[in-house]
Parts: sequence; C-alpha cells; structure tokens
Amino acid sequence: MDYSLLKELTQAWGVSGREKRVREIIRREVEGFADEILTDALGNLFCLKRGVEDPDKKTIMLSAHMDEIGAQVTKIESDGRIRLCRVGWVWTASMYNDKVIFPNGTVGVVGCVGNIEEAKNDVTKLYVDIGCTSREETEKYVRVGDYCGFVGPYYELAGDRICAKTLDDRVGCFMLIEAMKQNRGDFINDIWYVFTVQEEVGCRGAVVAAERIRPDIGISVDVAPDHFYPCDLEGSNAVGAGVGVTFGNPSAMMDEYLVDEMTACCEEHSIPYQRDVMDRGGTDASSINLAFYGTRVAGISIVDRYPHSQSSVISKGDVEAGIRLIDLYTRRRFIF
Ligand SMILES: [Zn+2]
Repeated sequence: MDYSLLKELTQAWGVSGREKRVREIIRREVEGFADEILTDALGNLFCLKRGVEDPDKKTIMLSAHMDEIGAQVTKIESDGRIRLCRVGWVWTASMYNDKVIFPNGTVGVVGCVGNIEEAKNDVTKLYVDIGCTSREETEKYVRVGDYCGFVGPYYELAGDRICAKTLDDRVGCFMLIEAMKQNRGDFINDIWYVFTVQEEVGCRGAVVAAERIRPDIGISVDVAPDHFYPCDLEGSNAVGAGVGVTFGNPSAMMDEYLVDEMTACCEEHSIPYQRDVMDRGGTDASSINLAFYGTRVAGISIVDRYPHSQSSVISKGDVEAGIRLIDLYTRRRFIF
C-alpha cells in the first residue's frame, strides 16, 4: 500500500478550528469517488456513496477528525518570547525542548519559565522562542491569538511501524479515503464518509454533522492508546495486534449489536483485530450517539503509542486491517 498520502496528511497544519489545509488535501483525493460532496459552516467535509435500493438500507456515518492538538498565543513578552494556552489535551512534557510551527511557517523552540518538573502539565508555564529578542520583532511573525501545532516529521521505523505527528487522527482520514476508493460495486447502505472538525476540543464538528445526516449507525474511526509501554494506563491495547474494535470508551457506550457484528465481520473475513478498551479520552462517537433522538454507535481504532505527541507510533498492518474492516462492515445488512 502506498503511504505517501498518509505522510502528506500528517504533515499538513490543522489545529482545531483551522482545518482548511487538511480539508483541501482530502477534497482533492475524494473528487470523483463520491456521489455527493459538501462542506458545512464549521468546515466538516461530507462525502456520500449511495447504496442500491433495499428495504434493509441503513444510513451509516463514518467519522474521522481532521483537527490536531496545539496551542494558542496569549501574550508576547517584551523580550520576544511567546506565551501559550492549550488547544486540546497537550502534554507539557512532550512540548518542552521541541518545536512548534505557526501556519505562516514560523518555527519556534519551546522552553519553560522555570523548572519543567514544577510546571507539571501547565502549558501556560511554557514559552516559545522564535529567535526574536523584542516584542516588536516577534510581532512581525506571530500575534496574540495565533495558533501553533507540533513539528513531527514522518518516519518509517523498523518492522511495519510509522512515526509522525498527528496520526491522531490523520490515519483515520487516510483510512476513510482509502476505504471510499475501494468501495465499488453494489452495496445496500448509504455511506457518509465524514471528515470532522474540532474533535480535540470536545467533538464539536461531529455534533452538527450527525444532526445533518441523522444516521442509523455512527462509527468513529480514530486512534486509541497503546498499553504496552511504561505509562500511567493499564490494559491490553497493543500496536501491531490488529485493528481495534472498540469495546469501551469513556465518552460513549458502544451498541452491543453493532460490536457483535463488527467482531463477526473480522472473523468471517480473517481480519486481524483486537478488543480495544480505551480507558481515557473520547471520540466523535460520543457526539453522534447523543445526536437527534439518539444513534447507535461503534468504533474502529488504530492503537497508537505516544499519542498526543510529535512522535506517535502505529502499525501499517493495523491500518490495512482497518481499511478492510471499514469496507466490509459498511457492506453488511444490519437488521434492527
Ligand atoms: Zn483523535
């Protein structure tokens, strides 16, 4: 499989609320593969593939978010240093001594106003040094209110591992695009491939997207944390152990029937999968679940080491299993 598109997606700049560059790449890719394409006021991108007429037809909403975590400029000090507040869940420890980039290409190094250990996880204790020594000079490049995101090049590691910034959730976007391209021939369900905005600040894009579509089934396609490295989480999720079928997610209860159908789909087609219990965080499934009069939801996940950092690690095998699962699952006949 060609991963150049995933590389391009991870390197695009798109902090929550500013997803335009990511959306433009996706729009270029999906042109010609969907029956309908539209963008709403918040910036969600919708692509519909219409199924054939069938009494059991369901409307399915697949959701992958385009936005990434980052920070916003709150103040520029007289010595030119830039102060920040967080946009989404940012780890102070992963930002420290690394770089951030502004949409105009300005790069800065992140330092701390005191001892980094004492900063705990308070992003307001950090500053960005873009090389300027006065407020006036800095303001030629960066202003209060500007957003910055991580710098995290794309690398292929040993085995089948990929390392990059923003795999959360550009890998989900990549999987939706690839599944859409593969989806040919007859199928019964109407499938909406939705690329959402503002997930990292509270799954906001998915709220209005679900209201527009009013799906029978909502499926978030997102990353879930790996549990097999020294960290503060414990569980069974492992990079390389197959695509994740979401069993647990603190933000939404997955529909029992949909989860059973998903594991059955994996078994029938010999798709390697793992039972993902995500014990922290949430996904767009939460917003879809509570939209309209309530929607059945499920989740497809890619297990991710070092999530919400510049150096997330995932497995190509998991991604390829995930693309097959999306394609085969959305072709199923759901009876309820
Ligand atoms: Zn995510």
